[in-house]
Amino acid sequence: MYDAAIIGTGPAGLSAALNLKIHGKKIIWLGSKEICEKVEKAEQIMNYPGFPGSTGSELTEAFRRQAREMELEATDLMVNSIVSMGDYYALMAGSEFVEAKTILLTTGITRVGTLERETELLGRGVSYCATCDGLLYRGRTIGVISTSPRFEAEVEYLAGLAEKVYLFARYKNCGVDLPNVEIVREIPRAIKGENRVEAVGCADGTKYAVDGVFCLRTAIRLNTLLPGLETVDGHIAVDRKMETNMSGCFAAGDCTGRPYQYAKAIGEGNVAAHSILDYLAEKG
Ligand SMILES: Cc1cc2nc3c(=O)[nH]c(=O)nc-3n(C[C@H](O)[C@H](O)[C@H](O)COP(=O)(O)OP(=O)(O)OC[C@H]3O[C@@H](n4cnc5c(N)ncnc54)[C@H](O)[C@@H]3O)c2cc1C
Repeated sequence: MYDAAIIGTGPAGLSAALNLKIHGKKIIWLGSKEICEKVEKAEQIMNYPGFPGSTGSELTEAFRRQAREMELEATDLMVNSIVSMGDYYALMAGSEFVEAKTILLTTGITRVGTLERETELLGRGVSYCATCDGLLYRGRTIGVISTSPRFEAEVEYLAGLAEKVYLFARYKNCGVDLPNVEIVREIPRAIKGENRVEAVGCADGTKYAVDGVFCLRTAIRLNTLLPGLETVDGHIAVDRKMETNMSGCFAAGDCTGRPYQYAKAIGEGNVAAHSILDYLAEKG
């Protein structure tokens, strides 16, 4: 059992991971292995103290160097779902099952376009995890909605099981090239079906008949990720200790609200780490 599971490898997650590691806590840090990917995109940074006028790549390299020197490594997995087990949390990350006494959400801004009826049909043909549910679709026809080339190995795994895959690749230069995978460029809008998934409906009115749909995205809607989590205007509601409405669950960075800036993300990651230390000490 981990002391803390940190979800998200941006600046907020890094700041918390550094502080918890310094305090000798057993942590797992989940998200893209290429930490601080968003920071890399900044052309020039004027508002982060100590790095005047540096580029996003320079700041990213400084963050990555510090993580390496502290022997902090991210586990390259997206967290699909989190369940509160009372005095600890259970997380599904890819095919991994993780248990932690506390969790810290540093998932950034989640502009996630959930499809119409996706939530209602979750578990009835809609899945977020290829490894968990792929075997259910052996010899069947499935749709895969993927937002990143990161998921191509999962698509190939599914193609090895299913008879036919409609791949709705929502990114450029898709590298999947298999005889039973048809790459669809129409924009998926809805999952059709009353009690079970029957088809994927597209913006132009086209329908693709499928037995199941895998939604593989780099971000998951917060209330899908952790049912019961309180949000306000799409951000996680937190108190000054960065604790959410759920005991032992903390949040930091862009996901808690504006301003969307490094200094706030890093400061909140630091506060959250210290609150986690207090929480663990109190629970014994
Ligand atoms: C082009 C650009 C320029 C910017 N310039 C500046 C600037 O000059 N100054 C400034 O202060 N700020 C700037 N920002 C804003 C800054 O990048 C953000 O405020 C900061 O990155 C927020 O850090 P974070 O850790 O909260 O979230 P993020 O950096 O967004 O990191 C969140 C991470 O969590 C991951 N994640 C989400 N869901 C899951 C899940 N279920 N499982 C695992 N991982 C998950 C995401 O993939 C992401 O890697 C800029 C942003 C952009 C896009």
